Amino acid sequence: MSKTTEVITPFDERVIPCYARRPIVFVKGKGAKLWDINGKVYLDFLAGIAVLNVGHSHPTVVAAIQQQAAELMHVSNLYYTPSQGLLAEKLAGLALGGKCFFCNSGAEANEALIKLARLWGHENNRFEIITMKNSFHGRTLATLTATGQEKVQKGFEPLPSGFRHARLNDLGSVKEVLTPRTAAILVEAVQGEGGVIPATQEFMQGLRALCNEKGYLLLCDEVQCGLGRTGKWFAFQHFDVEPDAFSLAKALGSGFPIGAIVTNPKLANVLKSGKHASTFGGNPLACAAAMATLQVIEQEGLLPHAWAMGEKLKQGLQSLVEKFPLHLTEVRGLGLMLGLVMATGAKALEEKLLDIGLITLATGEHVLRLLPPLNIKPSEVEEALDILADTCAELFAQAAPEKVTPE
Ligand SMILES: *Cc1c(COP(=O)(O)O)cnc(C)c1O
Repeated sequence: MSKTTEVITPFDERVIPCYARRPIVFVKGKGAKLWDINGKVYLDFLAGIAVLNVGHSHPTVVAAIQQQAAELMHVSNLYYTPSQGLLAEKLAGLALGGKCFFCNSGAEANEALIKLARLWGHENNRFEIITMKNSFHGRTLATLTATGQEKVQKGFEPLPSGFRHARLNDLGSVKEVLTPRTAAILVEAVQGEGGVIPATQEFMQGLRALCNEKGYLLLCDEVQCGLGRTGKWFAFQHFDVEPDAFSLAKALGSGFPIGAIVTNPKLANVLKSGKHASTFGGNPLACAAAMATLQVIEQEGLLPHAWAMGEKLKQGLQSLVEKFPLHLTEVRGLGLMLGLVMATGAKALEEKLLDIGLITLATGEHVLRLLPPLNIKPSEVEEALDILADTCAELFAQAAPEKVTPE
């Protein structure tokens, strides 16, 4: 039995099969590199789906976790611990200047935003939340209802009420679903799972103006696009717009589970004692991992670096589009959150790249999603582009229609 099979066999027998796992067993990570159980090296252009923004096992994060683990891992939120307050101060200082609530995942962070909006609107009987088609907000019942994708919702009916869907970058479609019960609009400034689709400045500013005019809350889901992924701390900062609150998770703990919401001062005290809670939320270990992650992003200048590497990668992808116009149609995204849009399915390309050792993700039918660590080196971007160019040449040559020779 191969080492891979040895791991996969009990796994598949006893782990509930809700993921389409590729048959690879990873055992080690460092920076943008991953090693499988057979010693094969991979270049990681997925980063745990935008989790490893500072790369695998960054020494600063590892040291912070090790030190905190030896001192104090968990204390209930019935008491104070130093690190949670410091992390909240740091995050609220990066944007909005209100307060934070800590939880353990993206879905929970969005759930907290939804509860915040409902409680805020309760007195005035406002509870409806508008989200966008093709969005992704998580897998709990409320967040999968917020998620504008039927495939995520199907089979789980009856869904919680109070959600309406509009179209990203179509302000008219938002106005169509407004009712006297509308409380908030929740939006990803760059849709991730939906296929790497950035909002337009016009749309984001239009939403802000609409919310100001009618008194709705503007909420941003920054779970994937936040924390430097797009070259700014938060993706909404590209559009000169501030939401009333936003959610974070994925990259916040560099792989240690932590989620958060950050509010403006107006919303800072809406969730009062007894209204929301999480056992693990913001425990010392999670907060140590998050503080170290933010420190690395800052000290290593990863915001401008992510932007520069994003431009380099985008340029390389753009020349691939020009080289293979029948198969590749467009490059889109912001910073190091990029999608290569294909005329055909992206799955075959993802699989072939994985065989060679480049990790990416086919998103939806037609988009190859690229989310390397923010501290990716120029040489690693070049290596990925070389692999992509070779693989496209090989794959698309095979797929090209046969030339018909006239008789
Ligand atoms: C991944 C993701 C979520 C869900 O996060 P989980 O930690 O898996 O619950 C929510 N919103 C967006 C935009 C995401 O990319």
